[in-house]
Amino acid sequence: MSEIYKRYMEVVDSIKNKCKQIDRDYSKIKLVAVSKTFPVEVLKEAYDSGINIFGENYAQELRDKSKVLKDYNIEWHFIGRIQINKLKYIVPVASLIHSVSRIEEIEVIDKISKKLGKIQEILIQVNVSGEETKSGVKPEQLIDLIEKSKLYENVKVIGLMTMAPFTDNEEIIRNVFKKARVLRDNVSKEFPDVVELSMGMSNDYLIALEEGATILRIGSKIFGSRK
Ligand SMILES: *Cc1c(COP(=O)(O)O)cnc(C)c1O
Repeated sequence: MSEIYKRYMEVVDSIKNKCKQIDRDYSKIKLVAVSKTFPVEVLKEAYDSGINIFGENYAQELRDKSKVLKDYNIEWHFIGRIQINKLKYIVPVASLIHSVSRIEEIEVIDKISKKLGKIQEILIQVNVSGEETKSGVKPEQLIDLIEKSKLYENVKVIGLMTMAPFTDNEEIIRNVFKKARVLRDNVSKEFPDVVELSMGMSNDYLIALEEGATILRIGSKIFGSRK
């Protein structure tokens, strides 16, 4: 049994247990295995362990890995900072882009998607914690951005993404997740397609689950620590 398989099963079990505890449907939770910086061989091992949703942070890395693994039945998610000139590497392979926060990005995603004949599903990254270093739209600008996105036929906003602040303080983390959920609930009244809530990483995914996350992005807990 490989290390990755063991760690993956531990994560899956912990998610299942938490779901039972809080009465949530495990089958509705999507687990994205964040494979950034790990070589293709490691992804193959993960795939053989039953993982087929991978999250990548860097456009060229996503492009290169997806090319090598083109015969694998993999769902690729892009979760990193977006550089507009690199969207051309992302849109052709991504099922979901988690980290959109500017209308200029949506415009370019739409243009590329149109050429490919696809409708690109995206999440809007929201900077709930207000940390300067975090990317994402400010909560008060969220509705405006989603409204504007409606002008782009080949882009579909299906939810929100957020990152917890860098702290050990569980209450601060929980509060950020709570706020993200309230935002999603409010936005979805006006925009019913906005249902997903991508939040929770290796150190805080159980809190995120309790606060309503529908998509978890877990890296080091599955793959081990990155260099
Ligand atoms: C790296 C990364 C993750 C995974 O982080 P871990 O702590 O390794 O689980 C999740 N989301 C984003 C946006 C990331 O950049």
